[in-house]
Amino acid sequence: MIDLTNTAYIRSLCARHGIRAKKALGQNFLQDASVLDRIVDAAMPEGSGILEIGPGLGTLTRALAPRARKVLAVELDRDLLPVLTETLADCPNTSVLHGDILKMDIPSLLAAEFQDMPVSVAANLPYYITTPIILALLEQNLPIQRMVFMVQKEVCDRMLAAPGTKAYGAFTVAVQYRCRALPVCTVPASAFSPAPQVDSAVIALEFYKEKPYVPKDEKHFFSLVRAVFAQRRKTLANGLANAGRFGNKETIADAIAALRLSPSVRGETLSIEQLVDLSDRLLQINQ
Ligand code: SAM
Repeated sequence: MIDLTNTAYIRSLCARHGIRAKKALGQNFLQDASVLDRIVDAAMPEGSGILEIGPGLGTLTRALAPRARKVLAVELDRDLLPVLTETLADCPNTSVLHGDILKMDIPSLLAAEFQDMPVSVAANLPYYITTPIILALLEQNLPIQRMVFMVQKEVCDRMLAAPGTKAYGAFTVAVQYRCRALPVCTVPASAFSPAPQVDSAVIALEFYKEKPYVPKDEKHFFSLVRAVFAQRRKTLANGLANAGRFGNKETIADAIAALRLSPSVRGETLSIEQLVDLSDRLLQINQ
């Protein structure tokens, strides 16, 4: 019987296929059945199409398959394809696509694979490219309902961070501007084989049907967000003036005052609502 949470089973599977975990591809295989359950429950796969990134040996794929309508798993490592053919042989609603998720045309892929099914993403992400993958999925306006990720605990903390904390930054804003971010569980390194250097956490990102705060110009908003967090030690006014694309010191000071903020406020203390407001005011003043 296939049991990808059983260490002896995994050892013999990998030995038969000549597989050794590749550190360069972030291969830390999850072995903990209770964590798998938490990820599957958070992904709410019932009746949905699931895009899984990096199926590895097929552990999460097998856990998702009985509840999802369909699972499409994208795996970069060609050596794992024969393993997945074996471990997913009894899961007819799964398919594996070989390739790099960062180089794929995801909108076309979702349209072709899932037609009009609701779609969610689930992944135990390769840690070396966690943020690029999450940003790529966030920024493409994909027809996705929710995403559930296993990531390094520190990355999870950045997605959940509140204004004014050390973990709050441009990545936090990119996530919380579009999604409700919900912590699911923390996961010790011992839940994986091989064990990573750091603890991990599972997070669910639920896309807003209607975003709570919408700037007049999204490109201008994210340009402002980048400038705000690029110079964390500076005051908001100096940081924006140094960026050189938001008007002169006086107009910036006026916009900050209009938000009823202190002239010496630091940008990293501003909520998304305040950042949206500031972006709109600067846009208007500088038009
Ligand atoms: N899902 C499996 C599990 O939970 O045990 C494996 C997770 S492992 C942390 C990450 C997986 O992502 C590996 O199988 C790795 O080969 C794959 N991977 C790495 N980079 C990738 C990329 N750019 N596109 C698709 N898969 C990738």
